Amino acid sequence: MSGRLLARLGVLFVLLLAGLLAVMVSRTLLLAPQERKAVALPALAESSDEPAMVARLSRAITFPTLTGNDAAFDDFHAFLRDAFPLVHASLSLKIFGHSLLFHWDSGQGCKPTLLLAHQDVVPVSSPEDWRYPPFSGVNEEGYIWGRGAMDDKVSVMAILEAVEGMLAADQQPPCDVWLAFGHDEETGGVHGAARMAAWLLSQGLQFELVLDEGGMVLPGSTLGISAPVALIGIAEKGYLSVVLRAHGEPGHSSRPPAKTAVGQVAAAIQTLQSHPRPASLGMPVRQMLEQVAPWQPFAKRMVFANLWLFEPLVLQQLASKPETNALIRTTQAPTMLNAGVKDNVLPATAEAVVNFRLLPGESRDSILGWLEAILPSDVQVTVKDGFFAEASSISPAHSAAFERVAGLAAALPDEPVPAPFLMIAGSDARHYQALSENVLRFLPVSLQQEDIARFHGPNERLARDQYALMVRFYAGVLQSK
Ligand SMILES: [Zn+2]
Repeated sequence: MSGRLLARLGVLFVLLLAGLLAVMVSRTLLLAPQERKAVALPALAESSDEPAMVARLSRAITFPTLTGNDAAFDDFHAFLRDAFPLVHASLSLKIFGHSLLFHWDSGQGCKPTLLLAHQDVVPVSSPEDWRYPPFSGVNEEGYIWGRGAMDDKVSVMAILEAVEGMLAADQQPPCDVWLAFGHDEETGGVHGAARMAAWLLSQGLQFELVLDEGGMVLPGSTLGISAPVALIGIAEKGYLSVVLRAHGEPGHSSRPPAKTAVGQVAAAIQTLQSHPRPASLGMPVRQMLEQVAPWQPFAKRMVFANLWLFEPLVLQQLASKPETNALIRTTQAPTMLNAGVKDNVLPATAEAVVNFRLLPGESRDSILGWLEAILPSDVQVTVKDGFFAEASSISPAHSAAFERVAGLAAALPDEPVPAPFLMIAGSDARHYQALSENVLRFLPVSLQQEDIARFHGPNERLARDQYALMVRFYAGVLQSK
């Protein structure tokens, strides 16, 4: 090659590089924060007495509404009738088991709003780890303590407080409002949410917005920015538990065959763990990164503004921590093993349970097909009965309904930056997918990263000063359309 040609190629390369850099920088500079109408949270209704509201929340926590405890639900409902007389006088109520479906007729024909929350709570596995008894509802150290203070009886109560306050002030919602309070969310929602959703569908109803628990306000450091982030779930992952089963020659362990049931199951688990499902930046996560990008320092902003180029780098970064790895791929976790009765007897069968959390875009069939391809044919794969839900559909992050929730979330203290979010846990919301294009998942509370462990864990609690904000947030949802 002649020197002149080389020089020309060199110039061309430099020009290309400069062009690429110009595209990257201009995309970065053009990246502006999402324009958002300034919204203020409505003030508490004049009739609302904050200490009385907090006392009602404390009381609500004292009912151990665990799935199956019928008496606790009956007592809780009697308490609700007492605590919210206007709600019970003005809204119609339909009961499904212990689930409550309220309808607030606005007299207007516009598309209604549906607010979801669940009355049931999870059991307590280690009461000795609790600072205060889990069903005491005590108000100490600036917190209300107990099961349901975050997940999610608190929303049942805050929503009812907001409605009661509006009724006391003679305020009507601009469009009809429905409230669906399930009683078995923690065990799948089959007897509560699923039945209420089927009934609403049978009435031909469609909702402008369905809002359930889900994301929350977390420190911005979660996503590398300084302002807090309000994570609004637009989708949730699916759930699939499979049983891997292998058979072997039973007999004495003093003359074992080359292949054993236990060995085959162990090898199958090893195969799965060394083949993670592929990583990808699905829509909810991509939109989350893009929404917070304008708040990132320049270098990171350039990366997120140019995901077309940097996606592999971003995926590598997200894959390095379990909590972000779960956002970019279907995860698989071996959770149960079962084989053998005696140390010197070869078992005839061995079993393992592997729990998958499906990314939107994957399905039961895609996972079962992959398992069939990757595992030897003498390992049987079956779906564990009743332990399956497909990933949800994805609600749009650019919609009036999203803005309605995002605007109110941005009005919470410290002006959180709202961002779409993929929920890795399940919620009742998935049962309501057919009822709205806009199924969103957001709990209007501000937490620290370490508080996440209190969900289903010990010392579940709500900061007392957050409760009135929750009520005001829900009032804002009820008063908008
Ligand atoms: Zn919950």
